[in-house]
Amino acid sequence: MGIDADRLRIVKYPAPVLRAKAGPTPPLSDEVRQVALRMVELMHEADGVGLAAPQVGLSWHLFVAHVPASDDPEDADWRSLQSDPVSATIQPTVYINPVLSAPSRDLEPYEEGCLSLPQINGEVRRPSRITITATDLNGNSFTQRAGGLLARCWQHEMDHLDGVLIIDRMTPLSRLKNRNAVRELEHRAALL
Ligand code: ZN
Repeated sequence: MGIDADRLRIVKYPAPVLRAKAGPTPPLSDEVRQVALRMVELMHEADGVGLAAPQVGLSWHLFVAHVPASDDPEDADWRSLQSDPVSATIQPTVYINPVLSAPSRDLEPYEEGCLSLPQINGEVRRPSRITITATDLNGNSFTQRAGGLLARCWQHEMDHLDGVLIIDRMTPLSRLKNRNAVRELEHRAALL
């Protein structure tokens, strides 16, 4: 196939790849590993906590996340690594062919942004706790349950694999607030 991981960039709405349903990740290879590591790099450069393969133009069931915990014991985030379930990652984590299960029944509102939707932020309601099963870069399957920002991040990134964006999930008021910013992204793309 020959993907040059160094050339991958974050693609912005309304790129069609962001609306496609992603297929399975190809069998684990150096290429898949290089793509995943490049995605971690791009996510960090952009100060994001998650990045899905369609956001770098690849219709693969793969995403990366790094939800850091604060090391300040006074900070609620510091407790996030101790809490059960966890709400942060110890290090950048790669999730290959992830599956979510057992969402909690509540719906928690939170202001979300997206690296593919610059200048757009809006309230999205999601279950506060959820379980993920995925494969890591060594080919090992793992299962983890999370709450807080990590549970939210997983659900946001899984949406990307289904071609779903936060502008589809926002509360009506947030949708209204962001209407002009969304149109501006669409117009800018039309001019390119
Ligand atoms: Zn996103």
